[in-house]
Amino acid sequence: MADKPSIYRNVTRRFNRAADLVGLDPDVRKILLETTNEITVSFPVRMDDGRIEMFTGYRVQHNNALGPFKGGLRYHPAVDIDEVRALAAWMTWKTAIANIPLGGAKGGIQLDPSAYSSRELERITRRFTFALGSNIGPDYDIPAPDVNTNPQIMAWILDTYLSTLRPQERNRSLHVVTGKPVELGGSVGRDKATGQGIVFLIEQWAQDNDFDLSEATYFVQGYGNVGAWTARLMQALGATLVAVEDVSGAITSPDGIDAEALAAHVREHGTIAGYPGAAPVDHAAFMSTEADVFVPAALENQITAETAPLLNAVLVAEGANGPTDLAGDRILREKGIEILPDVLCNAGGVIVSYFEWLQNKRSEFWDLDQVDTKLHRIMADAYGRVHEAAEAYGVDWRVAAYVVALARLEKVYTGRGIFP
Ligand code: NAD
Repeated sequence: MADKPSIYRNVTRRFNRAADLVGLDPDVRKILLETTNEITVSFPVRMDDGRIEMFTGYRVQHNNALGPFKGGLRYHPAVDIDEVRALAAWMTWKTAIANIPLGGAKGGIQLDPSAYSSRELERITRRFTFALGSNIGPDYDIPAPDVNTNPQIMAWILDTYLSTLRPQERNRSLHVVTGKPVELGGSVGRDKATGQGIVFLIEQWAQDNDFDLSEATYFVQGYGNVGAWTARLMQALGATLVAVEDVSGAITSPDGIDAEALAAHVREHGTIAGYPGAAPVDHAAFMSTEADVFVPAALENQITAETAPLLNAVLVAEGANGPTDLAGDRILREKGIEILPDVLCNAGGVIVSYFEWLQNKRSEFWDLDQVDTKLHRIMADAYGRVHEAAEAYGVDWRVAAYVVALARLEKVYTGRGIFP
């Protein structure tokens, strides 16, 4: 863990580049370079064998100028304050680009969930929620799923949070967390939302570039919520999945891997390991896959000085947050590989989380058509704004996306002024 590169430093370098480009107000720059609140909690949890183990959890609230803090919770051994800061800042840019009234936050616990039983994970989640206390809240800071967290974990957070409230307040506080199971106030379409948003953008990009997706090939890193849904929805458009990598290794099949069958295999076995009908390959061979579209949907810093030279794709559609580091970005640009950047490309999750939040506040249930139609419109608008900024400033889409975010946030700060 000691030599883990600072992801937050990458975030601030990209931020500064865009801020220079748009001549961002120096006072607004100062504000946006800082996180608003950083909460670190240590809490004890009793394990199944009776031992007590201590855990450290984080919640970083980057900015709430546009609305309540919003962002996922990650359970992973690499979670630390630097990573959570970066992920929180990306949420601020993402909600600004999508033009939804939410701010940016992120949180998590440094742990390997595979080392704990389901009952232990429940107790860890409930103690974490209790430790966060009123630092989260339905109109203040709203967590959601991220790596290794899921609707069940959101349900435990909901139940714990509501238990700390007066009975009269409980039913109007369901929107303290999004990504809940549908029966508990979740939104239909939230499970596939991030993948659906990615595929909407890939379709739009294909249309703009006269690219036939029904003949296309693609490969995906990460086969969890984001990777598997993206793969399944791309397959529904006729594209062929030729390689997949997850934490257990990588597999390939030039004839195509059935995205639905692979998702069923992962649901049953936890990883892609042992999937029949595909051959194992090493990481370098996976990154060198000859295919049109690459969807990184696992963790940060996967496309780097070492791996970017291996890529052969036409388009990288970033499902993960921060999958490309600064050197990776430069190399992809030199190779002429286009990027749909994370802060635009994977915004579908937070957009449908926003829909879930609205439905809870209004006691409504939208159907899938409503959710998908609204998601499509918001993603298409965001794509259009980033496209325009890229043309206006002559920059790549990542810088353009930051430009769109900063312009929106600057308007809010200059309009409202600074108290007192
Ligand atoms: P997940 O836990 O459902 O899946 C993570 C996947 O990554 C798993 O298949 C895992 O095996 C794989 N993985 C882990 N380490 C790996 C490694 N070293 N090499 C290759 N694969 C590895 O998580 P998710 O929710 O799908 O999130 C994936 C990414 O998408 C994260 O960067 C997350 O921040 C981002 N994201 C998620 C959402 C969402 O709605 N869930 C929204 C926006 C962005």
